[in-house]
Amino acid sequence: MAAASRRPIAPSLLAWAGQHGRHDLPWQKPATPYRVWVSEIMLQQTRVDTVIPYFERFMARFPRLTLLGKAGLEEILVLWSGLGYYARARHLHATARLCLEVHRGLLPATLDELMRLPGIGRSTAGAIMALGHGLRATILDGNAKRVLARYHAVAGPPDTAEIRRRLWSLAERETPREQVAAYTQAIMDLGATLCTRARPSCSSCPLAQNCAARTTGRQAHYPGKRPANAKPCRERWFAWIERDNAVLFEQRPPVGIWGGLLCLPEIPPQMDPGEWCNARLGFAAGKAEELPGFQHEFTHFRLRARIASCHGLAANIGDHIPGRWLGTENADLAALPTPIRRYLKARLAERQSRSTGR
Ligand code: SF4
Repeated sequence: MAAASRRPIAPSLLAWAGQHGRHDLPWQKPATPYRVWVSEIMLQQTRVDTVIPYFERFMARFPRLTLLGKAGLEEILVLWSGLGYYARARHLHATARLCLEVHRGLLPATLDELMRLPGIGRSTAGAIMALGHGLRATILDGNAKRVLARYHAVAGPPDTAEIRRRLWSLAERETPREQVAAYTQAIMDLGATLCTRARPSCSSCPLAQNCAARTTGRQAHYPGKRPANAKPCRERWFAWIERDNAVLFEQRPPVGIWGGLLCLPEIPPQMDPGEWCNARLGFAAGKAEELPGFQHEFTHFRLRARIASCHGLAANIGDHIPGRWLGTENADLAALPTPIRRYLKARLAERQSRSTGR
């Protein structure tokens, strides 16, 4: 059956969602544009059950957009710490500030204005419009892409321009004129609960009768995938500089991985850790000893973190050094990337157990 003649999905989806959809997500009570926006940004690349406690903490601290716009970035990064993809938090902050300056402290209610704000793409803008403002707009998040690609048998990777265009056109066509908020939530719910990436529950699905993937038994072929490339491995050196059971951290530049977060100081490639200590921090380190490092998987590469313990004369590691000293008692309150926090705690705990002989 051609896509154009396939039965519209909205009536079956809406009937199913009334009974089986998710109605108790924290951002639904109430679904204001601000709460929808924060939840949509948090949900990018992140599972609902991971997001819920972060969302609740965030709303407890920033119940209104105006409070978020007036906050410092570091406080936002502390609340975001562990959620990953920190550019999202920086964009959230920048957008809140712009809304304060330009939109009287509110999120705009047109697609174009929303899409001009940092970190808000077409699908996120559509979700804010539909779920937050109750206006007709279309979404195409990962769940909607999967449902539509399977229902209409759209082959090919959805991140290519041509497939993206086809999916957007189907998404526009399927979005009903009425009950747009309920439909938007319903297609996300179906993708999250039944039309899952692996082993979709087609026998319980309200779209099963007309679904092209199901009728041909080719659910696993949609959406298509790009051939997997082996992830490149990037090696980086970090300095471990310790004083009085605390370790030196620096704030990273606002862009790139872990942008704006506190991190062990990164030693530029090809620079000897001892020379770096001298040049950057102004104390003469002895020969650096390599400590056990760690690996961390990012979406597009694997980080191999190597750690150089820089010994300086204790008296020379003074307060003039720029940065923040963190130990076990204050690490949880700082905006640290999760693998760095884990590494810091593990090393300090190991040290502690050695010194107490346990
Ligand atoms: S029938 Fe199966 S593949 Fe088709 S939309 Fe429903 S869950 Fe997805």
